[in-house]
Amino acid sequence: MLDLTHQDWKARAAAMDFRTGAFIDGRFTDALSGKTFDSINPATGEVLARVAECDSADVDLAVAAGRRAFEDGRWSRMAPGDRKAVLLKLADLIRANLHEMALLDSLDMGKLVTDAATVDAPGSAHFFQWYAEAIDKIYDEVAPTGPGDLALVRRVPLGVVGAVVPWNFPLDMATWKSAAALAAGNSVVLKPAEQSPLSALRLAELAAEAGVPDGVFNVVPGFGATAGKALGLHMDVDCLAFTGSTATGKLFMQYSGQSNLKQVWPETGGKSPNLVFADCEDLDAAADMAAFGIFFNQGEVCSANSRLYVERSIKDALVEKLIARAEAMQPGDPLDPASKMGAIVDERQTQGIMRFVEAGRKSADLVTGGQRVQVDGRGCFVQPTIFSDVSHDDPLARDEIFGPVLSVIPFDSEDDAVAMANDSIYGLAASVWTDNLSRACRVADRLNVGTVSVNTVDALSAQTPFGGMKQSGFGRDLSLHALDKYTALKTTWIKYRS
Ligand code: NAD
Repeated sequence: MLDLTHQDWKARAAAMDFRTGAFIDGRFTDALSGKTFDSINPATGEVLARVAECDSADVDLAVAAGRRAFEDGRWSRMAPGDRKAVLLKLADLIRANLHEMALLDSLDMGKLVTDAATVDAPGSAHFFQWYAEAIDKIYDEVAPTGPGDLALVRRVPLGVVGAVVPWNFPLDMATWKSAAALAAGNSVVLKPAEQSPLSALRLAELAAEAGVPDGVFNVVPGFGATAGKALGLHMDVDCLAFTGSTATGKLFMQYSGQSNLKQVWPETGGKSPNLVFADCEDLDAAADMAAFGIFFNQGEVCSANSRLYVERSIKDALVEKLIARAEAMQPGDPLDPASKMGAIVDERQTQGIMRFVEAGRKSADLVTGGQRVQVDGRGCFVQPTIFSDVSHDDPLARDEIFGPVLSVIPFDSEDDAVAMANDSIYGLAASVWTDNLSRACRVADRLNVGTVSVNTVDALSAQTPFGGMKQSGFGRDLSLHALDKYTALKTTWIKYRS
């Protein structure tokens, strides 16, 4: 698969057939208003497709379809082993259509097609498989009530789960929410980001082909302020799983209070610190992973290691290594397997990143990058950029830039490093590089984040929960813990003659 050439990918892209309707009650349909919005390839500026622009009327239809399906039990009361078989088939279908799924995300939001084909699309198949395999191996409880009483404590599906997701990993974010929610027996209404709706629509079609019954998995493309808000305010949505910015996460909490007190699970922004101590023996590995941690996916990663705290004695050596790595990762055509970095999702995000870079030129030491560039004379591309000697109070070090911009901040003691790392409104992830085991454990204990990676960055798997603390939100995706979001504890108490 990875022996596909640039020409092969371009030929496949040219032959793509996009799904553009909303997927409601098992079929594609236009928005009731008849409106559409453009899905634009940020690497070229070309319109890929005109996609149904759903609003509250379409969301009503999708939620009603989800509710009907939930109530009649076509999925919610299916034996777990049977749900498992359907979701395993979906995982197989994603693998069978891997190139297409990878291309959809690459064309829609600019990521490297090789990353989409080796990370995102196989990841989606893996997560569906993992939840499918788990669901017939989870047992419920019998409470220790004593003779005459049998109290069953079960986890039951909630009903209709709304999922609102961002554009940085379109297929994977759709998967993280829907694989666990569907495995638990819920109906799902998914709103993909307006920048990247295409892979979610194809996923819904594959789910139907795999045997997910009509109405169980619905996709309503559209804008946040209309379709997303309608899901958040809907009186018949039981749970809203959200991934996106902190500002929007706060809105969903308000929508819940203004409507039916639906559960809201926000997974929001980050400004993850990476702490490199002088006793880290493999500085090349630290440099490799620090570069990966900020430049992978153009830095458009919620847990991107965008703050690098480095012990002053090794700062110059590490920065030199990082510059070499950044310079080897210049942006190129996302469809070219030789490219090391793709396009930024859209014009707005590109301009936002460049505003931080321009301000940073005055407040910190720009050591590499800093330019918006074009590939083949067009597109939204930003060079991998590093600022050194950034003040801890600089917006470069405090705000989520969500682009390929690294801020290097020297420190003199472990206490200082931990204090600066924790001095953030965010708490999603952190990394620590040291060969001193006690220091690794001590610092990991003190970092106030959801995941600490020691001597690596961004450690993540289906088996471990992913989510944050503070204003990175409190939702958790992945692992069996994610099933807690999509189920309620239900007690059935039976009295019997003993
Ligand atoms: P965003 O908040 O702008 O949009 C996310 C989703 O919310 C989109 O589907 C959007 O249409 C919708 N939305 C926007 N405004 C809305 C509103 N007023 N009402 C209802 N819905 C609305 O975020 P983004 O720019 O798409 O994504 C980038 C953000 O996502 C970053 O902050 C990043 O850190 C975060 N993110 C977090 C995680 C995590 O797991 N913590 C993972 C990936 C991305």
